[in-house]
Formats: sequence, structure tokens, C-alpha cells
Amino acid sequence: MGDILKEILSQLPEDKISNAIFEGANIVLYTKDKDFFLNNDGTIKKVVDNIKKRVELRPDPELCMDQEKAEKLIKKIIPKDGEIGNIIFDPQRSIVIIEAEKPGLVIGKQGGFLQEIKEKSFWVPQIKRTPVIRSQLIENIRSVLYLNNDYRKKFLDKIGHRIYDGWIRGKKNEWIRLTYLGGGRQVGRSCLLLQTPESRVLMDCGIDPATQSDNSEAYPYLESPDFNIAELDAVIVTHAHLDHSGFIPYLFKYGYKGPVYCTAPTRDIMSLLQLDLVKIMRNEGKEPIYTSEEIKEVVKHTIILGYEEVTDITPDVRITLYNAGHILGSAMVHVHVGNGLHNLLYTADLKYGKTKLLNPAETKFPRLETMMIESTYGGKENVLPTREDSEQEVADIIIDTVKRKGKVLIPVLGVGRAQEIMLIVEDLVKRKMIDTIPVYIDGMVWDVTAIHTAYPEFLNNNVTKLIFHRDHNPFLNPIFKRVGSQKERTQVLEETGSCVILATSGMLMGGPSVEYLKGLCANKNNTLMFVSYQGQGSLGRRIQRGEKEFMQQGLGGKNEIYEIKLDIKTIEAFTGHSDRMQLMKYIQNCQPRPKKIIFNHGESSRCLDVASSVHKAFRVETICPRNLESVRIK
Ligand code: ZN
Repeated sequence: MGDILKEILSQLPEDKISNAIFEGANIVLYTKDKDFFLNNDGTIKKVVDNIKKRVELRPDPELCMDQEKAEKLIKKIIPKDGEIGNIIFDPQRSIVIIEAEKPGLVIGKQGGFLQEIKEKSFWVPQIKRTPVIRSQLIENIRSVLYLNNDYRKKFLDKIGHRIYDGWIRGKKNEWIRLTYLGGGRQVGRSCLLLQTPESRVLMDCGIDPATQSDNSEAYPYLESPDFNIAELDAVIVTHAHLDHSGFIPYLFKYGYKGPVYCTAPTRDIMSLLQLDLVKIMRNEGKEPIYTSEEIKEVVKHTIILGYEEVTDITPDVRITLYNAGHILGSAMVHVHVGNGLHNLLYTADLKYGKTKLLNPAETKFPRLETMMIESTYGGKENVLPTREDSEQEVADIIIDTVKRKGKVLIPVLGVGRAQEIMLIVEDLVKRKMIDTIPVYIDGMVWDVTAIHTAYPEFLNNNVTKLIFHRDHNPFLNPIFKRVGSQKERTQVLEETGSCVILATSGMLMGGPSVEYLKGLCANKNNTLMFVSYQGQGSLGRRIQRGEKEFMQQGLGGKNEIYEIKLDIKTIEAFTGHSDRMQLMKYIQNCQPRPKKIIFNHGESSRCLDVASSVHKAFRVETICPRNLESVRIK
């Protein structure tokens, strides 16, 4: 048993605790004493105050009511309009998971219903929201977790031991080092290795979607001598985009069995994007770099964190995720090393400005000395029009194309811009600015949208107000139609009227967006609208730069030349990244202001440009490491 558990038990009445285990950084105590469980006069709280760790008291599985009876009881206690779905028991942990469409109604005033369930059944209830758009993926993810309850229990206990064993160890010689395995002076394959005498932590592990998958430049430098997969303690994922999460299943393919920390939406969306990547590679006749088995392994090893939830991940590293405003569930990682030794913030991709979907990135932190920040739009010339202007531009282009009876194709990353555009079109239709036209949501984009409806609490105040207070969920508008197969795609292309099509991939590197382009490119009434960053070398970038034709496999399987006659539009400001002004403003408004700022996730010239301006404006040290360079932070 870990030292910290012994320490806790020594502070509690001897005969009350039947078992003490770890669930990651949380400490769980079980009791066979009903009275002690329901009313321990703050004994547990005193322990928490003493050791400053999260401690939870649960009834020993022996006390739990028979499952069938408990299920009846739960259905009796919770009012019908809570719309309960599945009720799933986790008998080893004395937990019952109640899935519901309206969690607020299930919880009851001041948690009244949950308390009643606890008192009467001796099960600890947990509520999960069922998405209002049914999502096979969310169901699959939940079932992977439920089916592996046994494994998860042991896995989480092992992590607890890693964090707490040697808890009262003396201070070591302390240092912190950061190595860029990817994402240094480039957009793509973000991967940062954080090393301390005690810990090895990866922050993000992505691919470069603009580089062909058979080129090693598409992946992080895991062959670097700094990296040893056997020593890796933890992986933290800031957000689901593949340039941050796309290589994580590969770690599991090569033997990693440790935790992956992220928010719940990030877990769900990244699984979807990874599955899609495998599918695209197969369709292109390439051997996928990993399979759905490894993606399942990632899910099995995730530890979900909410924003601003502090958690230890190793003996000397404590992390907190903060809203990054970039896509649903996107996070910045605040890293506290040692006992007050140093505080870092890895912003990853951030939007410092409100969008149609999300609140702006957080600026207040308890302490902060070093910041690693993106510079996608860090160049002097990257001052973009306002959000309102570019939203208007998107609307105008759609209105124009509809007037000439054309179709609008918007290649999207699947997550973020796609859902914002859905809200823009929904708004246009609602305000009768355009006739009611269908908005075709291709395969994966639809699933990502469903995930948005499962986590409304991650959306901005306007949208949550619509959903919770006015009972109007804009994503449920019938103009949105799902397209799932090649046959349906052909039907969409053959239809005569106007429509908007949202399809992946965002840079026209394979996927349905390329299939639609092949069908739409010859008609000048149609529009191809770029709303996201087009990586160097991608087909999207080439068309954006004015290439008039492209080669792709035709229906017969042979390569064919396609002529581009449709209208090409780029909405540059419509990005989930901060532009030059927003980056400067973000640094200016950060509290406290960091002493050292490291720029990454930007083409070389943009990294250097913003670094030099920030140095001049704020008199802080700035650097732009290249891949494989290490920075000693302390
Ligand atoms: Zn991103």
C-alpha cells in the first residue's frame, strides 16, 4: 500500500475503512459502515484539509442494493422529464451511471435526487448526458469504457502508485527541460516532451496532415535520443485536431500503456478523427499507421479532466486545463513543476476572441513563468478582419452562390468551423436572408456535430442560453441533412438546386471533400470556400494559389485531370487561431505576464516575426526552437 494511503488511514477511526485505493490522482476509501458513509461528521473533510488531495468515500460493494431493485428505485425517484436512458452499474466501484437527456432534472435541486439515491440504495450515482443527436461513436466509446471496468480499475490504481509512491521523498536536484519533437517553426505534428528528474511527459503527439503519409516528415521525431517510450509517464492532449492528436494511437502500437489526459469532448472527437484517418489511408490503398484496435486502447487509457480541475500526474508534475477557445473541448495546459519550482503554460492552439461557438481563451492563472504559444498567424501581415466581418463574408458568398443556383463546397476539418458555419446558415434561414436550402453534412462532420450536442456546457454563453433557457438547439434544424455514402454523395451532386456542403478533409487531402470537388469543379456557378488554414504542399493551398487543374483518381480508377472553373474564395479571418493582434493582446492581458515566451506552431518567418515584436513590446525573453532542439527552462 502507498505511503499516502497509510498516512490517511492513520488519521481515520481504525475499523471504519474496508479498502483504500487510487483512481488516478484521486484517493478512494470504502466503508462497510452505513452510518459512517452517510454521516461522518466531517472526518473525511479533515483528512482532505490535511493532505490536500482529493479523497472520496464510497460504500463498500457489500452495502450496495441489489441492482434490479436499485434500478427500480432510481426510476421512481427521478421525474419522467429527466428522460433517463441507460442505467449502468459498476459494482466494483459502487458506482451507478445514469444516462439522461436532461441531467439538470436528474440531479434535482441542490443534488436532492442524487442524495436520495445514495441514501436509499448505497450506490454512488453519476450522471452522463445523452447527446440529442444520436451518436454511435459516443455509444461505442462509453461501451469500451464500461466493458473494461476491471482493467480501468487496475490501471487507475497503478497511476496512483506512480504519482504517490515515494510521496514524502526528499528534494532532488531540480531541473526542467523541454524538447520539440514536432511543431517547432512549423504548423503540423505538434509534439513537446517535458522532462524533469522525476517525469517524462508528452504534450500533444500529432501528425502533419499536409504531408503525404508515407513520408516520415509527417510524424514527430520519436526517434530522438531524448525520447524513450518505456519511460513515458503521461500524454496530455490539448485538442482533437490531428496535428495534435493523430499520432497517439501509434504510441500504443509501440507499447505505451500509460494515461492520456484530455477533456471529454477531446477524447470523443479525436477518436473519430483518428478512425477517419485510418479509413482515408485504406481508401487510398495505403497501409494505415495504426488500426481501430489502437484507437480503442487510447480510449481505454484516457483520464478525463474538466477545465480548471487541478490534478497530479506524476510525483512532481501537476496540471490544470483551461479553455483555449479553439474548438470544442480545446485546452491550454498549465503545468506546475515541483513544489513551487516553476509554472508553464502550453497554450497549443488558442483563440483570443469570442466565436459563434466558444468563449475566448482564459487569461488568468495562479502563477506563470514560461509560456509556449502558437504563432500560426504571427506574421506582421497576419492582421485579419474582425470575426463579424468574416462571418458576414461567409454569409454573402452563400447568398451570392444561391442566387446563381450554384452549390457551395466548404472543406472543413470536421470540427470547429463546420459547426460555426452551420450556425451561420441556420441564422440566415431563420432571418429569411436566403431561401431554405439543404445543408449537407458529410459523414464525420455529422458525428462531430452530435458530440457538440453531448457537451453543451463547453459552448459559449449565447449558445448555451439558447439550448438551456429557450429550448432551441440550432443544431437540430431540419435544414441539416446527413450524407453517409458515395451513393448519397452522387445524389447531392446530381440535385439541381443550391445547397451548402460541409465535408472533410479540410485541406483537400483525400476524403469526401475531394470527391465533391471532382463533381463541382467544372461549373463556374459553384463556389469552393476555404475557411481553414491550408498547409504548405496541400491540394487546398495549391488551388488557393491559383492552380487551374488537379489530378485525381477518376471513377474508372485511372488518374484524370480536373479543370477548375468554380469560384474560389478564402475567408482568412474565419479561423480558430488568434491573429497577430490577438496574440499580442493575449500576451498583454495574461495575468501574471510570463517572463519567457516560446513560440511554436507557425511557419518559421511568422514565429520569428512575432517573437521579435513581443520581445520589443513587453521586454520578455522570446525564443523559437526548431524541431529536435531542447530548451532548459530551469
Ligand atoms: Zn488545432
